[in-house]
Formats: sequence, structure tokens, C-alpha cells
Amino acid sequence: MRGHITSQQIETAYLVSAKIFDKTLSVESGVNSLVAENLNPNSARDFINNYRAFRQGKLYQRTLSQKATDYFLKRISMDNGIDDLRLAIQAVTQHINYYENLTSTNLPSLRRIVERYTAELIPMNVHEYLDSFERDVSSSYADNSAARGERLKNAALQPKRRAMTVDVFIRNPDVVAEVLHRANGNCESCKQPAPFHRKSNGKAYLEVHHRIRLADGGHDCVDNAVAVCPNCHRKAHYG
Ligand SMILES: [Zn+2]
Ligand SMILES: [Zn+2]
Repeated sequence: MRGHITSQQIETAYLVSAKIFDKTLSVESGVNSLVAENLNPNSARDFINNYRAFRQGKLYQRTLSQKATDYFLKRISMDNGIDDLRLAIQAVTQHINYYENLTSTNLPSLRRIVERYTAELIPMNVHEYLDSFERDVSSSYADNSAARGERLKNAALQPKRRAMTVDVFIRNPDVVAEVLHRANGNCESCKQPAPFHRKSNGKAYLEVHHRIRLADGGHDCVDNAVAVCPNCHRKAHYG
């Protein structure tokens, strides 16, 4: 029977199960609405119970199809974030171990699904992410609008979440203050007055930029820094 469950039914089962878990829908009404979608009541209850196990990181014994497992993991990651994804992965892993022990068979493709989502739990370096994002934008831009439009039509509206690590330079506040003082409200590149004043303290809005980037070994000192308007700052980085 399970092989006949459609993507649409899986999506509905997910949404109904989530509402039941959040206690905004009773189990009975949930089962009824899934039966109305042509699921049998036992499958409906399995979906609901398995979803609860996903959210609690607990073992579930009744089989959930690969397609449904994949969909549940994807949606929990999008809708609830990384901590709940971790629990869901825990539940699926326990299920795989349970099933493999019970039946002396292996579930390699289900394990591969788990591995794919486990990779999402590993924090990514934010600079690497931004670099790869830039490359992805460039390749999308190089593509034609029709191909892009086709992808946009099928794209998820909610972005995925991902844990990131970031290492930053601890900058010297005296360098920033002294360079702003030296600039006296004017961009040190285009010489124009700052575009606006900060609401918080009424001071001219300029950004302090390092001529030689700290990442490239530049010194965090007044001589290596300029106060620039946002335009000139962007130009310094991307122009
Ligand atoms: Zn400027
Ligand atoms: Zn800069």
C-alpha cells in the first residue's frame, strides 16, 4: 500500500502531523482529514506517530517510506531549524538500527539520506559560504532567464537554515574613532560629505576600511585605514 502514497499525501500528512504535535489539531480530526485524502487510517496514524518520534528524537518502529523520511527531514529542517533536525536524524538512525537488527537486512539508501542531512548539521565557515554563494549567483546569472525562471517556479519559498562558524578580527576601536575624527565627516575617497547622520548619536555616517585587508595581513592601524562613504566602500571591495 505504501508504494502508492503520493507526494501530495506525504505533504498533507506532514502538515497534519505537525498541527497535531503542536496541539492545534486533535488526533481524530487529523486522521479523518488524512482518510479524506485517501490514506487508510493505519497509515494516517503511522505518519502522525512517526512525526512525533521525529520531533522528540525517539525510536519509531513502523516503517516510513524513503520518500516520506526525506520529506519529513527536509521540512523539519526548514520549519523548525537545526536542533529539531538533529532530533529527527536521531529518530531515523534509531529506526534504521532497530529495523536492521530485527530483519537482518540493511537499509543503505535510508542511511544515505540520513548522511545527507547529517552533513547539514556540520557548521560551515561563513566566508566559505559567502564565496560559494557568489559563485552560485554568477553561474545563475550566466544562465538564460528561461532556465532560471523554470528553477524559480519549483524553488522552495522558505530558505534552508545552516549553522555557521565565523572567525573575526578583534579590531581596535581607537583606530576606528581616530580615522573618523581625521575624516571630519567627509569621505576620504570621494571627498563628499557623509550621506547621512546616524540616528543614534547624530555623527556623520562613514565606514572605516582597511587599505590592506586584515585577512591579507594588513595592520590594524590608523595609517592602513580610511573613513569612506558606503558607495566608496563597496567600490573598494567590488569595483
Ligand atoms: Zn566616497
Ligand atoms: Zn572594507
